[in-house]
Amino acid sequence: MRQTEDKVLAPLTTIGIGGTAQQYYEPESISEVQNLIGQATALKSRVHILGGGSNLLVQEKRLSGRVVKFGEHLSRFDFAGKHLRAQAGASLAKIVTECARRGLSGFEWAAGLPATIGGAVAMNAGAFETSIADVLDWVRVVEKSGDCRKISRRDLQLSYRSSPFPEAGVIVEAQFTLEVRNTEVVRENIRKNHRLRRQTQPLSEKSAGSVFKNPPGESAGALIDAAGLKGLREGDAMISKKHANFIINCGGARFADVLRLIERVRHRISNYYDIDLELELQIIK
Ligand SMILES: Cc1cc2nc3c(=O)[nH]c(=O)nc-3n(C[C@H](O)[C@H](O)[C@H](O)COP(=O)(O)OP(=O)(O)OC[C@H]3O[C@@H](n4cnc5c(N)ncnc54)[C@H](O)[C@@H]3O)c2cc1C
Repeated sequence: MRQTEDKVLAPLTTIGIGGTAQQYYEPESISEVQNLIGQATALKSRVHILGGGSNLLVQEKRLSGRVVKFGEHLSRFDFAGKHLRAQAGASLAKIVTECARRGLSGFEWAAGLPATIGGAVAMNAGAFETSIADVLDWVRVVEKSGDCRKISRRDLQLSYRSSPFPEAGVIVEAQFTLEVRNTEVVRENIRKNHRLRRQTQPLSEKSAGSVFKNPPGESAGALIDAAGLKGLREGDAMISKKHANFIINCGGARFADVLRLIERVRHRISNYYDIDLELELQIIK
């Protein structure tokens, strides 16, 4: 297992903001995850889990406790017919590519997402009216005690961008059932989704994805846009001019800048529409 002290976290997030982790770990096996989590619980030490860092805003201080990162290790995935089994650190982008090659449908929505399987299940990520819950069979989870447990989807409360994780445990593996389809159809859907994403989202900028969840029946981005907030800035943090539900780091944005911008947007949307925007972005502090 890789273990580092005072690891700099900003480069591990897609928005490029964050302090350091006093104790940083990259586990290479499930038993290492079990030891890390079990020991942290015994020591009453906090644990923060990082996947691709693509929906995270990390405080710019020295984080106490343990930061456990999935990505480079525990990233294997295998197919057996229409079943996919993936470790938590598996790259969604690589899975989408392999699904296209095999003519397996179910992950087309994820084209262009810089995420891991663990992070995608924890966020119940999705797009275009689908989410990862639609194809999930089960997850293998390391609980606070350090014990490992397999939980089937029907026993999990997964809803729009919401799951019991990471509070309920650390996802180490998941299985999915996909649909066998014509390879060209899958490829074309992936291309279409990726094109749409490139047209509508600031993919070449540093961001942490959608900042707010869509309120029922509304689009957070459309509300923020209609309130005239595109381009609003706090320091180097700015509401994207391309997609109003993205905050981009124009260079030197700080944690506090992003928080101030979030509060200004919430305040304005509450005043204009009497809607309280709920954060999708996960804040680690
Ligand atoms: C350009 C861009 C576009 C995006 N578009 C979309 C989109 O269309 N739809 C969408 O849903 N999201 C989107 N996102 C947001 C993001 O990609 C997803 O939320 C993704 O699922 C996060 O995965 P991650 O591996 O990066 O997780 P992280 O951001 O690292 O973590 C997110 C949360 O999951 C927890 N977590 C991570 N790994 C585990 C694990 N193994 N076990 C338990 N908990 C864990 C973390 O503690 C944190 O609470 C976008 C982001 C970007 C930058």
